[in-house]
Amino acid sequence: MIKIQISKTLQGKIRKGYPWVFKYQVQNRILESQPENLGVIYDHNNRFLALGLWDPDADLCFRVLNLGKPREINTGFFLERLQSAKIIREELEHQGTTGYRVINGENDGLPGLVLDRYEDTLVLKLYTASWFPFLDELCELFQKEFKSRQVVLRLARNISKSFGVHSAYRDGQILVGDGNSSWVQFKENRLKFLVDVVEGQKTGFFLDQRDNRLKIREMAKDRSVLNVFSYSGGFSVYALAGGCRSVVEVDSNPFALETSLRNLKLNFPGKSFPAQNFSQKEGDAFQILAGLKSEKQFFDLVILDPPAFARNKKHKAQALVAYAKLAKAGAEVASGILFAASCSAHVPENDFYDAVYRGIGSAGIKYEEIARTGHALDHPVTFAEAFYLKSAYLKIGP
Ligand code: SAH
Repeated sequence: MIKIQISKTLQGKIRKGYPWVFKYQVQNRILESQPENLGVIYDHNNRFLALGLWDPDADLCFRVLNLGKPREINTGFFLERLQSAKIIREELEHQGTTGYRVINGENDGLPGLVLDRYEDTLVLKLYTASWFPFLDELCELFQKEFKSRQVVLRLARNISKSFGVHSAYRDGQILVGDGNSSWVQFKENRLKFLVDVVEGQKTGFFLDQRDNRLKIREMAKDRSVLNVFSYSGGFSVYALAGGCRSVVEVDSNPFALETSLRNLKLNFPGKSFPAQNFSQKEGDAFQILAGLKSEKQFFDLVILDPPAFARNKKHKAQALVAYAKLAKAGAEVASGILFAASCSAHVPENDFYDAVYRGIGSAGIKYEEIARTGHALDHPVTFAEAFYLKSAYLKIGP
């Protein structure tokens, strides 16, 4: 096992639950003789502090698996973590939800590993190649615990492909199952959705917005809805289920818009949607919002759920400018409620809200905050850096 030395300050942080060590924080020279996927940290008194995943090729080179006392990392360890994670999510099934996050990485004790369930398909997304040597063991466990039909592997964009024989893994690989179709149907609050677990964004669906979609359903009755960054139509289906008058979707991705139509048909079979009740606009959200404004079109409920505007710390300032600009453009076509969300981990909560208010204020539009929301129960957060999802519901106008 690789032995890692770090500063006393970082030792203290890790003792309190912070789970990461970056390469520049490693104080000893580590010989890269053979691939090794586990590392250990002893404190300045040479007492065991933490055991974790070691990834020699990544900037984020160490992720804590176990704190405080040494443990063998084996099936028993993984099973324990998986079962604790399952208990937290049990109530979702009773609410008619078969698509949810089973393991939220570090926050469920399995760092750099996300496991999403879509009915009897599991999608395993890895953020570090240090998991590769454990994959067979994990798949066996997942199948036993979930009786899953297939397990699909998704790899984070910047994952390094080390670990010798294990380096053959690729994004979208079917680890278990026949791989006949990448389309899977699941339920969320008894509504039905189709996901492409191989080609879809993230693991196929934005499971983290489930609670907000439910809120939108509750406030949609008789309203006209503008769903900006609609992806596969999650918010639209909920709004229609809540009895909204009409939905206009905006997204730049034709594949997403097409999937949204399929989800619409799946939930409302036989129902026709004339253009005044449902339409889609393909293109850049900022341009389309500007066009709607110049046409003096207004919507009772505007949903703004963009992709992450800040992919790293360096992009924070420009992301805040974009959030402000978007909120302004959204408020300019809103005549009732504006919902604004951010999924950028590098944009702190209060900075985001300030940007939204600055944007709306700059257009001279009055607003009142109705609610703020954060993470759903299947996306628990155990350390500050893991908090990424924030959103506000605002009443627009006098
Ligand atoms: N609200 C969605 C998730 C949104 S994901 C849900 O609940 O499922 C972000 C979406 O924004 C993606 O579908 C992506 O295609 C779209 N997108 C990214 N940049 C865009 C832009 N400039 N204009 C319009 N859509 C964009």
